[in-house]
Amino acid sequence: MNRVSTMGELAASLSHEILHPIATARNNARTGMRLLELNPPNLGEVREAIACVVRDADRARDIVVRMRDHVRKAPPRKERFDLNTAINEVLVLAQSVTQRNGVSIQTRLADGLLPALGDRIQLQQVLLNLILNATEAMGSVEEEGRQLVISTEQHQAGALVAVRDFGPGIDPAHLDRVFDAFYTTKSSGTGMGLSICRSIINAHGGKLWAEANEPRGALFQFTVPGAKREIASTNAGG
Ligand code: ADP
Repeated sequence: MNRVSTMGELAASLSHEILHPIATARNNARTGMRLLELNPPNLGEVREAIACVVRDADRARDIVVRMRDHVRKAPPRKERFDLNTAINEVLVLAQSVTQRNGVSIQTRLADGLLPALGDRIQLQQVLLNLILNATEAMGSVEEEGRQLVISTEQHQAGALVAVRDFGPGIDPAHLDRVFDAFYTTKSSGTGMGLSICRSIINAHGGKLWAEANEPRGALFQFTVPGAKREIASTNAGG
């Protein structure tokens, strides 16, 4: 439970750290505007104020880059685990939130998936984040329509996990932008969730992407590399 909540905590502390240089940039920009209004404007001081804005923007960018490098570089643990079991654990965690929001969950988990290889907790964080996003998105549709379908299927090199919702969906022009750090359409969103999710999946050698769901809503899918069959049988029972 603790580790599953860390993505939200990370995003919260990060947005706090980044809000600071943004606030300073805003102050410096306002100072520059005021200096321009002087008659005659003091261009030397305006230049100085703008240089401060650039410095603040660089600071905010550095924080993000450092965080992303950290997520990327920390090699994910490589344990073998049963993906469907891991998914069911997440569903138990998410249940209180989905129930409170009138969302019903359907699962279509494939039998006989090869064991997944990776950091189970990190992958659970990704799934939890997708479920919470979908739940939030469906807050705007009628309660009967609030359905979430979670499925797994065997894919060439591993497993494919799909999370589909029947909410308002994503503007087709923004299907990839939603993964950008700070891209958010929510008044209190951080825009970090999907960016972190993608970093986690990439670090596992998988892919995470978004599509339109039919007839409506959003479909998020990611691949998780599987443990090789030989390794699976060598360690079986041990
Ligand atoms: P946040 O949730 O803080 O906004 P995310 O990175 O998790 O940050 O999501 C970025 C944006 O992507 C959201 O603000 C929303 O506009 C869009 N989005 C994510 N999931 C969905 C979804 N299931 N349906 C519609 N839009 C979504």
